[in-house]
Amino acid sequence: MSKRRAALVTGSTRGIGQAIARALAADGCNVMLNGFGDADAIEKDRAAMAEEHGVEVQYNGADLGVESDVDTLTRATEEAFGAVDILVNNAVIRYFHTIDGFDRKDWNHAMAVNVTAPFLLTQNVLPGMRERGWGRIVNFSSVLGLAARSGRADYVTAKTAMLGITRATAAETRSEPNITCNAICPGSVLTPNTEIKIGELAEEAGLSFDEAKGEYLRRRGQTTGYIEPARVAGLVAFLCREEASDITGAAIPIDRGRSATWLDGGNG
Ligand code: NAD
Repeated sequence: MSKRRAALVTGSTRGIGQAIARALAADGCNVMLNGFGDADAIEKDRAAMAEEHGVEVQYNGADLGVESDVDTLTRATEEAFGAVDILVNNAVIRYFHTIDGFDRKDWNHAMAVNVTAPFLLTQNVLPGMRERGWGRIVNFSSVLGLAARSGRADYVTAKTAMLGITRATAAETRSEPNITCNAICPGSVLTPNTEIKIGELAEEAGLSFDEAKGEYLRRRGQTTGYIEPARVAGLVAFLCREEASDITGAAIPIDRGRSATWLDGGNG
């Protein structure tokens, strides 16, 4: 990367977001971390990232479910680094209710964090990107933005909406050759959240953790193994580089062929 960019990565205190923050720092970006977690662990991670890559890394604990926090997060990043050149809408909250039993408070919270916050952040950062003639927005969809599983109404709805926001943003920035907005659609990635779900499956089905790891994938039709967070981060980092400026409005699966082969026996 020829010029140091400023990146805001939501939900970067663990999992895929943390891997993205590391990958962008390795590419020479200053990074604003965001998300929840243990304060000491976040500070350790922040300092290590900054030292290892010789970039500035800051942390802001904005709650994306609170509109004023979303604006504060944008301002804090601009004040820290002078701009937001790269926005990665990665944070997520997941509920696991069927539609019949979906608590309305949970629904509204899921939509606020997973849909409204990415929209508001996009709205906040686009004027600066236009002014500087350069910007990258990467939105997180999922294979569940391409097809549904039962019991995941909030997630399926939010991840489908992320494709809509991505295309709408790409449409409104098409005349700007160096501003892009893309969505990525991962399959099952081995993150702390996935490990919790594997543990629950092990308990329910009376399996060992290793057995449940395989069963979890089998039930999702992703039979050749988990995706590493660093691989997803590598794709995001690529989309944020100069050479990716021709890619915009795309929904890119990173799912070991899962979404391409649903008719071949996988169940999504
Ligand atoms: P995760 O659950 O491990 O981490 C989520 C992050 O979001 C955490 O840092 C958390 O603190 C933060 N967060 C949650 N609520 C927040 C709020 N109100 N305000 C600010 N931050 C908040 O997630 P992950 O598994 O690493 O997934 C990252 C992204 O990738 C998500 O958008 C997810 O939908 C997508 N994805 C993940 C998988 C997978 O298998 N893990 C598959 C497909 C898509």
